[in-house]
Amino acid sequence: MKKEELEQLLSDKARIIEELEHELEETNQGIIMLMMELEELEQERFRENIDVIKQLQIELADTNKGLLALAVELEESEEKHSSILKNAAESILTFSEHGIIETFNPAVSLLFGYDENELFGMNICTLIPTFNQIAPELHLEENISQPSGLPVIYGFHKNGIAFPIEFTLGKPVYKRQRQWLVIIRDITERKKAEEELRLMAKIFEGSTDAIVITDTNSRIIDTNDAFATITGYEEAEVFGKHPKMLGSHKHPLDFYLDIQNQLLQTGAWRGEVWAKRKNDEIYPIWLSIYSVKEENNVDTTHFVGIFSDITSRKSAENQLKQLAHYDSLTGLANRTQFIEHLKWSIDVAKRDNKKTALMFLDLDRFKWINDTLGHLAGDKLLIEVAIRLTESVREVDTVSRLAGDEFTIILNRLHDEQEAGIVAKKILNALEVPVFLEGREVFISSSIGITVYPTDATNVTQLIKNADTAMYYAKERGRNNYQYFSHSMNQKVLDELEMETNLRQALKNKEFSLNYQPQFDLTTKELIGLEVLLRWKHPILGFISPSVFIPHAEKNDLIIMIGDWVLNTACQRSMAWQKAGLKPIRISVNLSGIQLKQHDLIEKVSQVLIDTKLPSALLELELTEGVLMDNAELTINTLGKLKKMGIRLSIDDFGTGYSSLSYLKRFPIDTLKIDQSFIRDITTDADDDAIASTIIAMAHNLRLKVIAEGVENQEQATMLQEKGCDEVQGYFFGRPLTEQNLCKLLNEIKH
Ligand code: C2E
Ligand code: CA
Ligand code: CA
Repeated sequence: MKKEELEQLLSDKARIIEELEHELEETNQGIIMLMMELEELEQERFRENIDVIKQLQIELADTNKGLLALAVELEESEEKHSSILKNAAESILTFSEHGIIETFNPAVSLLFGYDENELFGMNICTLIPTFNQIAPELHLEENISQPSGLPVIYGFHKNGIAFPIEFTLGKPVYKRQRQWLVIIRDITERKKAEEELRLMAKIFEGSTDAIVITDTNSRIIDTNDAFATITGYEEAEVFGKHPKMLGSHKHPLDFYLDIQNQLLQTGAWRGEVWAKRKNDEIYPIWLSIYSVKEENNVDTTHFVGIFSDITSRKSAENQLKQLAHYDSLTGLANRTQFIEHLKWSIDVAKRDNKKTALMFLDLDRFKWINDTLGHLAGDKLLIEVAIRLTESVREVDTVSRLAGDEFTIILNRLHDEQEAGIVAKKILNALEVPVFLEGREVFISSSIGITVYPTDATNVTQLIKNADTAMYYAKERGRNNYQYFSHSMNQKVLDELEMETNLRQALKNKEFSLNYQPQFDLTTKELIGLEVLLRWKHPILGFISPSVFIPHAEKNDLIIMIGDWVLNTACQRSMAWQKAGLKPIRISVNLSGIQLKQHDLIEKVSQVLIDTKLPSALLELELTEGVLMDNAELTINTLGKLKKMGIRLSIDDFGTGYSSLSYLKRFPIDTLKIDQSFIRDITTDADDDAIASTIIAMAHNLRLKVIAEGVENQEQATMLQEKGCDEVQGYFFGRPLTEQNLCKLLNEIKH
């Protein structure tokens, strides 16, 4: 190798080295530069980082603060929640998928009776066995409430007692486990309330008592079924109406005011009320009213009225009352009740300035019916009479039976006394329809005495006495009639003993006289007979009716003595007139039943005829229907003998008693005398008309004459003539005459 070349090479190398050195230097410088740059850069970045860190540190501190706050908040919230849980009335618990209880609040312990330790890990089914049944539903994802299809669900207390519960199942996601939360409520109280409500509703609807509820404005807002049954009103018909629409007007206004006052004061009222049904029927109810108060116990919210129809109870009560106050045979008021009513009637009449009439009523010849047909028939008759009497008066009047065949009637609120007479007539008519007894038609009649408050008397005792007196008068005044009391009557009624003494004295002192009532042939108008009627003029009391004294005389032998005197005197006077040249006229003498029973009647009568020389054909004897039937066989015998003597026989008061047709045929009688009670109303009363016609037809059938007594006017006479009645007697043709007046009459019709 060449030097040059070498040199060159060396130079080149040196240069390269130089160059490299230079380059290296330059690089180093670059590095330094770079390093410097880098250092600069790094410093800059560090500064920046520090800022970030600082910033971050600040931020971190802030975050920590926030976290701290959050932590505090969280703690508070947890406390809050757990306190809510702790204090919740509902029992809240959670349980796992397998039913194991995990958490619970104190209410659970309280409700089920287990302590905390016992509850942990317990199966929910121990507390609520039904959960077994709903287990499948627990797989659903949603919350479930108590399944509605199930009946009441029960929780079981540690002590074994079951109680109704209600629950809600929730499924919160908690710690990503399947866990259920159940809220349980004890619904014992609610169930009880519901039960009570149901019971109330049942009572309300099922009650046989009517229930009506009103608001405080007295508007009906609710009623039950029984209400409709009892009142007849459907709820819709009464809704919103005032309950007064259910009342009757049977109570005075202050009665309702009293109820209202008591309701305000005590909140309740109960008592008996007369109510009115939809069909206007008045009926008694037992009513209880209560006010329903707000819980504060002050403000009334509603009124409840509960009532029952006590018609039947009332009638049971009445039955009891009936025993004490009513006659068990007829159901009419008895004496006790009668006296009470009479007192009451007098009070009311006094207050209202009205009149009250008292009637005494006695059946004619009841004793005879009772004796002949038996007591059973007698009872039946009394019952029938009670019915007819009740039907003849108004509801405000009182019909009573005092004893036997004695009835009384109190007629209330009369304007004038004549009204009592109208009622009496109605009663007489009602009694005239024959009663069917023991297969026979029995005719009854009655005698009625009437007295009026305050005209005749103002006290109970006097009124009763008056009515009795008047009845006595009516009875003896031909029966089947009514008489008003008059003070003269009272005077004339003497007590038994006094009457007897007075009658004996009358005979001795010649206080008796005779009157003669003319009897005519209805066709020829010819005078054909005279009925002999006894008169008694008491020295102090004046004339006393035979209807009053004859019954007294019949109680002892006085009637015999009096009867003898009548027969004797009548026959004697009759002969005296004949001797004086007057036309001989048949006389009819009334014979009492007692006289008929005398064993020596026949001898006595024939002796009189012998003594007075009166032709027997001019003597007629009048016997009443009852007297004849009393002992029919004996009567037939006696009558036969009288008949043989040529004496005429007549049946008096015919139609008022009970006559057996078969006997009638066997009595040897000549005449039937239609009782004046049938003649009285013959022109107005169809029944009387029919009875008179029947008697006339029957008499003619039996070939008997018929005489009508008590003919008071032309119409009656015409009607009787049309019916073919033979003879008549009565005020229209001639009043009973004194001997003096009779002789004047006889003188006028000289033969
Ligand atoms: P009697 O035998 O039915 O007599 C008829 C009664 O009716 C008589 O009443 C007579 O005055 C009355 N009278 C007559 N015509 C009419 C009339 O047109 N209208 C009205 N309203 N009455 C009339 P008197 O005289 O008061 O006699 C009553 C009863 O006393 C008699 O009813 C009779 O039962 C009885 N009696 C009268 N005298 C005797 C007698 O001497 N012996 C007996 N045993 N009883 C007698
Ligand atoms: Ca007579
Ligand atoms: Ca008569």
